[in-house]
Amino acid sequence: KKKIAVMTSGGDSPGMNGTVRAVVRQTIASGCVAFAVYEGYQGLVDGGDMIKHMSWEDVRGWLSEGGTLIGTARCAAFRERPGRLQAANNMIEKGIDALVICGGDGSLTGADKFRDEWPGLMDELVAKGLRSKEDVAPHQHLNIVGLVGSIDNDLSSTDATIGCYSSLGRICQMVDYIDATALSHQRAFVIEVMGRHCGWLALMAGVSCGADFVFIPENPPSENWEEEMCSIVKRHRAMGKRKTIVIVCEGAQDRKLNHITGKMVNDLLATRIGLDTRITTLGHVQRGGPPCAYDRMLSTLQGVEAVKAVLEATPETPSPVICIVENKIVRKDLMQAIQLTQQVAKDIAARDFEAAMKGRDAEFEE
Ligand code: ATP
Repeated sequence: KKKIAVMTSGGDSPGMNGTVRAVVRQTIASGCVAFAVYEGYQGLVDGGDMIKHMSWEDVRGWLSEGGTLIGTARCAAFRERPGRLQAANNMIEKGIDALVICGGDGSLTGADKFRDEWPGLMDELVAKGLRSKEDVAPHQHLNIVGLVGSIDNDLSSTDATIGCYSSLGRICQMVDYIDATALSHQRAFVIEVMGRHCGWLALMAGVSCGADFVFIPENPPSENWEEEMCSIVKRHRAMGKRKTIVIVCEGAQDRKLNHITGKMVNDLLATRIGLDTRITTLGHVQRGGPPCAYDRMLSTLQGVEAVKAVLEATPETPSPVICIVENKIVRKDLMQAIQLTQQVAKDIAARDFEAAMKGRDAEFEE
């Protein structure tokens, strides 16, 4: 019977538990044996009880739980070959040669590297006398399938990552709370939201909450953004608006790539316009809490598809990442998706905004 393990890695996101549940249950429904690796790659390196056999009941009720119940971690040891050799040894001990990983681009890059190295790792295990030839013989190929768990919606090639809509919903709810008090006192609020390299959450929150102005990393405002923002806010006030909401993404920057902080925006609104202004940093409430309906649905459909991809894979198939494009669950080439994501980041870092936007458009024209 084929043994399939599921793991969550990198930053947690709402919906990861739904993924684990779906992978475990689809594995069992397909006549295979399910395992969960606890604490991300650290669990793979440590082995033993960290790689747990999972039954149907083990994941009961997980669909509506936030965070990840099997834990996640950053693991330095897995970045080095000796750590990956240990991980491979632990997998062979349990007879596992298929891994479904829900994480960010770092976790998925590590997974693909592990797969490339796998035949060499098998030879090394035998050469070092850690495993017999008979042990490794049935496990000559490692099967990797990626699922993207991230609140940032920061992977190219998919319309939504698992967790981003839960986080967006939470931000909107928080801004609604702030709106009530802002209106009462005619105050301005600068809301800081997560997203180091990707402004999707900030931008969509701006649209969904009717913010006065939004700052994101990808599309820095004009050279004289201070003037621009203040005149827009003043115009809105002149039209009778009693509150002002400006959303600042964590990684927001100006055209010279200087960081735009909530404090800078706060000071401008207070000194140039004279508004009574407060800053609210939403922080980790954006990551926690129960997943929204969309993330429950996405994690379930993608978890099922991941197991199907494992069972249909051949040694020649490139590792897939499960995506959603125009409401369809599809498989894409994992490393191509990561390279595209990294290219967009590079274009932004090189201030080539036009190329960055073209890169994004090209991906959808594919
Ligand atoms: P997030 O988007 O939340 O940061 P991520 O998956 O990108 O998630 P990382 O910290 O980059 O988070 O990666 C998680 C773990 O994956 C690392 O701690 C490490 O164990 C493993 N990993 C990342 N990159 C590599 C790599 N190039 N080679 C081997 N392992 C890696």
